Amino acid sequence: MIKVNDNFCKLSQSYLFSEIARKVTAFQSEHPDAGVIRMGIGDVTRPICQAAVEALHRAADEQAVASTFHGYGPEQGYRFLSERIASADYAAFGIDVQPDEIFISDGAKSDTGNIGDILSADCRVAVTDPVYPVYVDTNVMAGRAGEFADGRWTRLEYLSCTAENDFVPELPKGRPDIIYLCYPNNPTGTVLTRAQLSRWVDYAIAHKALILFDAAYEAFVTRAEVPRSIYEIEGARRVAIEFRSFSKTAGFTGLRLGYTVIPRELTGVDSAGREVSLHDLWLRRQTTKFNGASYPVQRAAAAIYTPEGQKQIRETVDYYLRNAAMLRQGLAEAGLQTWGGIDSPYVWVRTPDGLGSWEFFDRMLHECHVVCTPGVGFGPSGEGYVRLTAFNTAEATAEAVERFKNWKIK
Ligand SMILES: *Cc1c(COP(=O)(O)O)cnc(C)c1O
Repeated sequence: MIKVNDNFCKLSQSYLFSEIARKVTAFQSEHPDAGVIRMGIGDVTRPICQAAVEALHRAADEQAVASTFHGYGPEQGYRFLSERIASADYAAFGIDVQPDEIFISDGAKSDTGNIGDILSADCRVAVTDPVYPVYVDTNVMAGRAGEFADGRWTRLEYLSCTAENDFVPELPKGRPDIIYLCYPNNPTGTVLTRAQLSRWVDYAIAHKALILFDAAYEAFVTRAEVPRSIYEIEGARRVAIEFRSFSKTAGFTGLRLGYTVIPRELTGVDSAGREVSLHDLWLRRQTTKFNGASYPVQRAAAAIYTPEGQKQIRETVDYYLRNAAMLRQGLAEAGLQTWGGIDSPYVWVRTPDGLGSWEFFDRMLHECHVVCTPGVGFGPSGEGYVRLTAFNTAEATAEAVERFKNWKIK
């Protein structure tokens, strides 16, 4: 018999979303007319903007003619896109990122999951808690997480984020080599200010740690003191890799496109003590395991950097931000305490009276007919919280808010 990778066997079946689906289906079959509103999903609902759709059509037509057909493209992505990214997402904000430091891919989930390929299996890992599960599970797969006991992986350091520290994690104590930060955060919707993020960059410089910075929600940043990129922070080019995605920014969850920035000066060390460029290793990894993102999709992404494209994606992000504001206000009127939803499509809600995440989920489903996501599904510090998303329609969000206002939760 073929031996399998034991690390995969350590992972439990993802219980969170299947359990939610089971509970919602059961409720709906008992109450078919309840008008259940789903505020749990992490997918967007607004269509792709006109500028991107037109570019997609043009690229499809190019593929139909031999003289304009595009086959395999550069594994790192087309220059027409990486140049726009470098200028619009970085240079325009005074940040130095060169086009050849940008690796275009099929999304940030793949990249945040695959980046561990170039890092030693011995590396110690720290994650904020609650956490986007991809960071944890991919480290389990790589054998870095240890064993699962009492809701935690023994070899991971969990950096707790709760109301008690106002969702600002304390610096690690366990000397991690790799630190995952996601800001604006999924699931809590909270952010770090420039001053708060600077402490992490300084820590990483002082302790020779690597920060894996997931900026999938940068387009939702509204406040001036909140950085959109970790490279806004002095010294970050020496210690951080940044991941970005067109999924939440431009509705590309189905089209698939993202990119990863690895600055030239970012280095690690091999077991012989030699300094190695992480950029070179990732390039080697990508050229071996990845054949580039789709040409029409890269054309569609380039179109969002046109003035019309920028205006159109802004409208959609603002639409979600208005939903988030509605949610925050409605929940506050119901007497609930919330975080996030200002620079993020996620609103994090504290359950009242010490209710568990799942108990609160059940009550919201049965009493408001609204589906949320239990916070405990994102890590032990998520217990006692739930996540609501602003990705539903404005109409459905307004209806959910009406139901919250009349809700006697306390
Ligand atoms: C949605 C999301 C992403 C984006 O993933 P894609 O693969 O680009 O769709 C990345 N990180 C976090 C934390 C997310 O919530």
